[in-house]
Amino acid sequence: MRFGIKTLDDIQAEGRTVLCRVDINQPVDREKGALKSINRIEACVPTIRELSDKGAKVVLLAHQGSDIEYKNYYTTRPHAAVLTRLLGREVKWIDDVCGPAARAAIQELQNGEILLLDNVRFVAEEQTLFEMKLRLTHEQQAKTLLVEKLAPLADLYVCDAFAAAHRDQPSLCGFEQVLPSCMGRLFEKEFCTVSQVMEEPVRPCVFVLGGAKISDAFLMMKTVLDRGVADRILTGGLVGNIFLAALGKEIGQGSVDFIMKSNYGEYIEKAKELYARYGEQITLPVDLAWVEGGERREAALGGVPADIAAVDVGGETAQIYREAILSAKTVFVNGPMGVFEQEPSEAGTKAVWQALADTEGHTVLGGGDSITATEKYGLTDKMGYICTGGGALIRFLTGEELPVVKALRHGAGLGQ
Ligand code: ADP
Ligand code: MG
Repeated sequence: MRFGIKTLDDIQAEGRTVLCRVDINQPVDREKGALKSINRIEACVPTIRELSDKGAKVVLLAHQGSDIEYKNYYTTRPHAAVLTRLLGREVKWIDDVCGPAARAAIQELQNGEILLLDNVRFVAEEQTLFEMKLRLTHEQQAKTLLVEKLAPLADLYVCDAFAAAHRDQPSLCGFEQVLPSCMGRLFEKEFCTVSQVMEEPVRPCVFVLGGAKISDAFLMMKTVLDRGVADRILTGGLVGNIFLAALGKEIGQGSVDFIMKSNYGEYIEKAKELYARYGEQITLPVDLAWVEGGERREAALGGVPADIAAVDVGGETAQIYREAILSAKTVFVNGPMGVFEQEPSEAGTKAVWQALADTEGHTVLGGGDSITATEKYGLTDKMGYICTGGGALIRFLTGEELPVVKALRHGAGLGQ
């Protein structure tokens, strides 16, 4: 039991039918019927292998793609082939989620065998659109088709999908109401790592917040400052620009127009309030960079041309941030310092990321683009911990109890 949730060490798996929810959602190439990346599939292999080794009948539930963006909405068939290869043992697959065919396949499983069901979002109640419209309670989720059809065939529920822990959907929060439940190894690692940062960070604890997800960044900042988790926050990207604008610093009218055009005007007020209260802990860029005619230009605040938007922090800022990162014991990172995707505006992110690799402090990094930057600079092995659950991680750091964490804590109370 860790942080109120049972782990695989607390359950008896042999001969038991285990419903195991994983997050193996990957970008898909529809033309080729193939996956463009398999990193999330790799990450949940240890849990699946352990359950199978212990003699469980393993039923994997997973979603693929979002029913809102729709781009990657797809079958889980290719995932079964990848899992078979990674595990070195057959992972069966069936093009059904909880109908008669799926139920028969579950009942035919032998100890140690693994079956992957099709995309759980092919069932209406699993869709995000459904979640957003109806907001079912966890008790109501236990009465949905998926849970009513599958739970009676199972003995245990294991959730290894920390990346989806902010979702309030039956395959994630419904089974815990009716089955003894625990978290898988990946969930345990990710959840305990971030819980540790929130509850007892080794100090000094520095947060590096950049990027463009402004509402999340501001909620996160408020929580970690109010709770005394962060000793210092280094700001970059659009987050830094908003603070600078709030303090009336000269950042170029183009930057201000960009903030207003993106409807982030309200955050200028929030930035003022946060800075008034926690100004000593919030560090802002002292110089900025922009791109003119394809060339990078840098200047101290006040030197950015009026009609242009700042798209990176400058060299002096990067140096100040580097020193802060090197002397920290815990560093949490979300969001790049600039538009690192383009060469003229990548230097700030590149330098700060190098500092993250060089520090002896424990670094915890999350967020899709932050991970992309880490890969781009070849620093993946140099980071302390890279969290696969971007959305879940950020929601967690905003101080909310994640729906799946709440459900698993409830499920921990049900006997085996
Ligand atoms: P993550 O995915 O790591 O959580 P975000 O999605 O919040 O990070 O932000 C990443 C995006 O922010 C990148 O696409 C990057 O180009 C953009 N970005 C960074 N700095 C700026 C800036 N100053 N102005 C506009 N966009 C920026
Ligand atoms: Mg992103």
